Amino acid sequence: MNQAKGGRPEVGRIEVITGPMFSGKSEELIRRLKRARIARQQVACFKPDIDLRYHRTAIASHSAQTHEAVTAPNVAHLRKALYPQLEQVEVIGIDEAQFFDEGIVQLAGELVHMGKRLVLAGLDTTFTGEPFGPIPALMAVADEVTKLSAVCMVCGAPAIHTQRLGTSRELVVVGAAGMYEARCRACFRPYLEERESEQMELPAAD
Ligand SMILES: [Zn+2]
Repeated sequence: MNQAKGGRPEVGRIEVITGPMFSGKSEELIRRLKRARIARQQVACFKPDIDLRYHRTAIASHSAQTHEAVTAPNVAHLRKALYPQLEQVEVIGIDEAQFFDEGIVQLAGELVHMGKRLVLAGLDTTFTGEPFGPIPALMAVADEVTKLSAVCMVCGAPAIHTQRLGTSRELVVVGAAGMYEARCRACFRPYLEERESEQMELPAAD
């Protein structure tokens, strides 16, 4: 039953879990990594160092679920942290993958050709509704894409968008609660909120 080493080419797999905030991406990533551990597979998990790089513009991570993860500020650091243990590691989880640079796509290609299973979770769109970083490219090369929806916090419909709320400079603090909402297409107001935000940053008139 067991595949003998060298019996057949080792085939890896790329799985992408995406969707807006509050859609349960991190929870699904953690669920898959836990199942791999139960199957006695060696798991390594990484996440970007968001606070250092994106404190002005990031969409927050708010998941209460946890999984041990190595923080890497960029793909070069991720590679450096991963490669020494690569012989043992069978499953590689990456959370908040939208914050990594495009190098993550090449790294995913390398790892899958080594027979590794990659599970990447990340936002598919920004709070202006545009494709987010390397996620579209990762979705294109993936074996499987799971696109989760959240629940619109205005009307209760399935939500595909992340709405940024509020107006102050402080709102961009990563992980701050109450700064973002899941919204359906009908309730999503990306540009209106942006303009309000910019107006709030202008000096107050007399
Ligand atoms: Zn709605």
